Amino acid sequence: MSELRFRAISDSQKRNHIQIEERGRRSELFGKNVFNEERMLQYLTKDALESVKAAIFSGSKIDRKIADQVAEAMKGWAITMGATHYTHWFQPLTGSTAEKHDAFFDLLPDGRALEKFGGAQLVQQEPDASSFPSGGIRNTFEARGYTAWDPTSPAFIYGTTLCIPTIFVSYTGEALDNKAPLLRALHAVDEAATAVARYFDKNVSKVHATLGWEQEYFLIDKALAQSRPDILLTGRTLVGQSAAKGQQLDDHYFGVIPVRVLSFMSDLEQECTKLGIPVKTRHNEVAPNQFELAPVFEEANLAVDHNLLLMDVMDKVADRHHLKVLFHEKPFEGINGSGKHNNWSLATDTGVNLLSPGSTPMKNLQFLTFFINTIKAVDTYEELLRSSIASASNDYRLGANEAPPAIMSIFIGKQLSSVLDELEGVSKGKLSPEEKTELKLNVVGKIPEILLDNTDRNRTSPFAFTGNKFEMRGVGSKTNCAKPMTVLNTIVAKQLQEFKKEVDLLIDKKNLKKDEAVFNVLREHIKASKRIRFDGDGYSIDWEKEAKKRKLSNNKSTPEALQVLTDKVSLELFGSMNVMSEKEVAARKEVELETYILNVQIEGRVMTELVYNYILPAAMRYQNMLLKNLAGMKDIYGSTFKKYVPAQMDILEQVSTHISELKTKTDTMVEARKKGNAMLDTNKKAHTYCNEVRPYFDEIRFNCDRLERLVDDRLWPLTKYRELLFVK
Ligand code: ADP
Ligand code: MG
Repeated sequence: MSELRFRAISDSQKRNHIQIEERGRRSELFGKNVFNEERMLQYLTKDALESVKAAIFSGSKIDRKIADQVAEAMKGWAITMGATHYTHWFQPLTGSTAEKHDAFFDLLPDGRALEKFGGAQLVQQEPDASSFPSGGIRNTFEARGYTAWDPTSPAFIYGTTLCIPTIFVSYTGEALDNKAPLLRALHAVDEAATAVARYFDKNVSKVHATLGWEQEYFLIDKALAQSRPDILLTGRTLVGQSAAKGQQLDDHYFGVIPVRVLSFMSDLEQECTKLGIPVKTRHNEVAPNQFELAPVFEEANLAVDHNLLLMDVMDKVADRHHLKVLFHEKPFEGINGSGKHNNWSLATDTGVNLLSPGSTPMKNLQFLTFFINTIKAVDTYEELLRSSIASASNDYRLGANEAPPAIMSIFIGKQLSSVLDELEGVSKGKLSPEEKTELKLNVVGKIPEILLDNTDRNRTSPFAFTGNKFEMRGVGSKTNCAKPMTVLNTIVAKQLQEFKKEVDLLIDKKNLKKDEAVFNVLREHIKASKRIRFDGDGYSIDWEKEAKKRKLSNNKSTPEALQVLTDKVSLELFGSMNVMSEKEVAARKEVELETYILNVQIEGRVMTELVYNYILPAAMRYQNMLLKNLAGMKDIYGSTFKKYVPAQMDILEQVSTHISELKTKTDTMVEARKKGNAMLDTNKKAHTYCNEVRPYFDEIRFNCDRLERLVDDRLWPLTKYRELLFVK
């Protein structure tokens, strides 16, 4: 084994003696580090509390005096909790979170020191944000950006810092982050869904979207992970021969959690609990060293923040356990990649899940209304929804026969399909009394309250109805959920708005009763959105062909998938729902393309280094061993030596061929990169990287992996799959 690998493995083994501590009760710790309602009650006057709650409920502005009070209270609490700094915590378009810490400490003009944090600091800050991506919105000399407090997501203490969730916008008001559009989309869906929910219950005054994500990830020994330049710099293995054993025995899924991992998880859950992240489920996933964590679902904005915070906490806690978390969607070839299912629904302030069938026909008509409108929204904007989960890393996973395909479709199961089929047959206009009774008793009335039938689940569907929520399954493990949640909530809002217009028209102009009008419009939507419904195998080639016939998009790469963003229809959608202006959408597309290019570029560079500095030298050393052996044989046997060396000759030939192929392919890839780099147009450049650079990665990898199979293990410089995935 090479020196490098030997060191990494022995390091890893030294670390493997970890005790699992017994912990206290989770419920007592929950939210200990969060400035939640309980804390506010303790630290704020009644007026201030009411005003914050009103702002949370309606999105209204908090007046400056109240902000001063809140800031004072937050500071008081944070300092007793040992915090020394505060930061606005925001989500720039890089996809992760950003923070800039300021000490509470300040100096008075006379030189005395004090702890300072007022309403001004709470409400708004100006991070020097010139190096965050803005897609051209904010030229550095044009306008600066500022962060503004989002009172709907409570402040929390992380380490010794008080973190205040904020949006990040330019001075001209354009969103420079992922949170601002999400909040606007959530507002849009609140308005549209509340209006529709009031058809069924006048007591509803607010609807919020709920999100329950399921985070998949890999855990690798830190020393082993760090021994690989590709994992270090790209989060995935660019080369690596599959281990003889992978996931074929299915012995990892839901298996016993390894001790060291359990210790990490227990520590992680402790931290999450303090931060108010309601983590609940943990288990092994399908691939070796792959795991999943899921919380109880929450209001979508809070859930998004919690997921981003979680990823950061995971990184830090893993470090304490000498582990490295890989969030990449496809860190290893030949075994499953990781996703982040987004379970989504709509809930009213009266405590009703609008996607949950109920016990009465009226409740079920409400359920069907939201259910069918969601299906229609996804059908109309399927390509846009696909674009919201596009990234360089997720491209390796979508459609890779283990993850949902790049084609959007909806699975609803047999039972609900037959309900929709029956509704489709409802006659137009007024319904006869018999028809009404039939509908109420035998169609709508027949939907059972609990639809969570596990036998009727389809794991290959990218958008599946799972009893009382939809589950969006193509979201990448690294992705900020704000992106898909912004699109999903916007399209559903738009659809509900249209639906309401149509129903009202039938009530006003055609004199239909409300439920008749609802049935009439739903019937049309069921008909119009049929193509998006698919209950078969989403991984199959047949589906790809069928989807093409149905004119569903199938954008396999990020540059392709992103094009739809700036289509007229998308711009009209985002504009009319006040979610994003044309300028903001264009900027996002630019940033996403740019990010794509940079990611592929980094992979290309790392690949070149791996080939030239690691693999070729090792392969040539082995080639020399073979040559030396052949020369020795020739010394002894003279001209008849060839008779005795067919094995050596065969291996030498294979090694030499792969060496030469490897160099040629790598050099060609470098040339292709140069061609791409010379391009000024981001869109063209992204396509060049996608179509002309990236295809070489597979060919280069093929030659590397073949060499790994051939070359003496002691000479191989890179930590192998069996070590990364199985060394404990
Ligand atoms: P699985 O999909 O793995 O079988 P479940 O269906 O039990 O698991 O739940 C998965 C996730 O769905 C959980 O994280 C849970 O919080 C979330 N979830 C459940 N109900 C809702 C809802 N109404 N809205 C959003 N998410 C929900
Ligand atoms: Mg799931």
